[in-house]
Amino acid sequence: DQPLVYVNPAFERITGYAAADVVGRGHQLLLGDDANGHAEVAAAMAEALDVRRQVHNRRKDGTTFWSELRMTPVRDSLGRLTHFVAILSDISDRKHAEDALAYRATHDALTGLPNRELLQERLAGAIRTGEGRVIGVAFLDLDDFKLINDSLGHAVGDEVLATIARRLAEVVSARDIVARFGGDEFVLMLDCADRQQLSIRVDDVLAALARPVEVHGASLQVTPSVGYCRFPDDGDDALVLLRRADQAMYQAKRQGRNCVVAYRDEFDLGASQRLDLILQLREALHLGQFVLVFQPQFDRDNRPVGMEALLRWRHPVRGLLAPAQFIAACEDSGLIVPIGRWVLREAARHHHLLAERGWDKLRIAVNVSAAQFQQGLAEDVAAVVRDNALPRDVLELELTESVVMANPDSAIRSMAEIAQLGVQIAIDDFGTGYSSLAYLKRLPLHRLKLDRSFVRDLGRDPDDEAICAAIIRLAQSLELSTTAEGVETETQWRWLRDRGCDEMQGFLLAKPAPFDEILARLGTPQRLP
Ligand code: C2E
Ligand code: CA
Ligand code: CA
Repeated sequence: DQPLVYVNPAFERITGYAAADVVGRGHQLLLGDDANGHAEVAAAMAEALDVRRQVHNRRKDGTTFWSELRMTPVRDSLGRLTHFVAILSDISDRKHAEDALAYRATHDALTGLPNRELLQERLAGAIRTGEGRVIGVAFLDLDDFKLINDSLGHAVGDEVLATIARRLAEVVSARDIVARFGGDEFVLMLDCADRQQLSIRVDDVLAALARPVEVHGASLQVTPSVGYCRFPDDGDDALVLLRRADQAMYQAKRQGRNCVVAYRDEFDLGASQRLDLILQLREALHLGQFVLVFQPQFDRDNRPVGMEALLRWRHPVRGLLAPAQFIAACEDSGLIVPIGRWVLREAARHHHLLAERGWDKLRIAVNVSAAQFQQGLAEDVAAVVRDNALPRDVLELELTESVVMANPDSAIRSMAEIAQLGVQIAIDDFGTGYSSLAYLKRLPLHRLKLDRSFVRDLGRDPDDEAICAAIIRLAQSLELSTTAEGVETETQWRWLRDRGCDEMQGFLLAKPAPFDEILARLGTPQRLP
């Protein structure tokens, strides 16, 4: 515990202590609150060695500053250790400069947002500690931003970018990051409890950009294309996730911009592979490689009431493929129209096979894509109803909210025509899109299908429970029936039945299977009392 015997005026200036305050006190005074430093310096002194250390120090008035302490032993002419000389420098400026440099290296100068490097590092960290969470990576690219820059000048462009950056930063939470990747590209890391929350958060981001940007009295409508993917479903590596979010964003651009696209495996194909996939799909239709499987739907007493037709591709090399691996390519290439027409015919053809076994009331549900809806769906349906002599209420079409909401007025007209044919209409994946309740009331609907993502966390997540209960009540008040999708456990089943959900579909009850297997599984209908 070596006492201080002398301090110079510079020491007095840096620390605010007068010589009289400190002379006689222990050398530890030079080490601030740095506990590790105390041990290291004591060890060096015990061995009479040089020591140098950065110390977070404290002035007399309690304020802190960064200092560098260098301590050297002094020996007399006989080589005996007599003193230590300590040199204390105030390195706050250097520290600040270092911090500023580190900040510049990790942040974007125009917007002050984190840059690519920092996002990548933080994303990698979030993945390491993110077990049990869902981390979304969203790539956001402004549509036609170049036009703003070219026509209104870079100063205006910069202001637009700064405004967008501010809005994005406001909409995210403390665990999230908004980064600028340069140009008009932003990337968001969204740390969420589950997928449902993630899709809500992505919608919030879009909503934050919906207002026009005011620059110099002009009002500019800037729209983004957004692609996102999520950890752990789509990958557990920061670079892979960034690439996949980028691929999904590119897909959003192709789908006409100003929209959000979630990553799907099939995006991860090169351009030539995509072209190849489309060529193969076209051939598949001619070669009869498409098949349907069916998944039964049951009422609250476990009686079969319908079945959903689900498309599979019997690929000659890759085996039986699920829609996630090829439907997007069908949609992009327009092939979904002829393929969808085939599905409709093929599914309807099964009605008479069901009727032969006494299942003449069993509904057959068919999924319908947006492009089909816009290209003469009503005529196709009329032809199928006529050719198969389908009774009323046997065929059902499943449309997603986005298909309907894309063009509500024309949708209402086509849906009315379809309903006139005695064909029922269900809204698929209900709860995940942007339904306007006002329109919902005007649509000739029969059923809402509660999306699988809500059903998954029943019995565990109170938010999802609240949403499910609200959707069931909403459906009841609109006099619509509800079907829950993805029912996998008894707990979910009981929860849904107790809340008044009318019908259930899911692995708990039956997995999708070829028609003959389903028919065997159904047996013969019970006579209803
Ligand atoms: P979807 O309409 O939501 O169909 C239900 C999907 O959930 C099916 O996947 C089904 O196998 C799966 N599923 C059913 N029960 C459970 C369960 O308990 N747990 C889990 N985890 N999953 C369950 P699939 O057959 O892979 O179809 C995926 C999507 O592809 C469908 O989602 C639908 O959007 C689309 N799709 C399928 N067939 C067609 C079609 O003929 N035309 C069009 N346009 N789209 C189709
Ligand atoms: Ca469906
Ligand atoms: Ca669905």
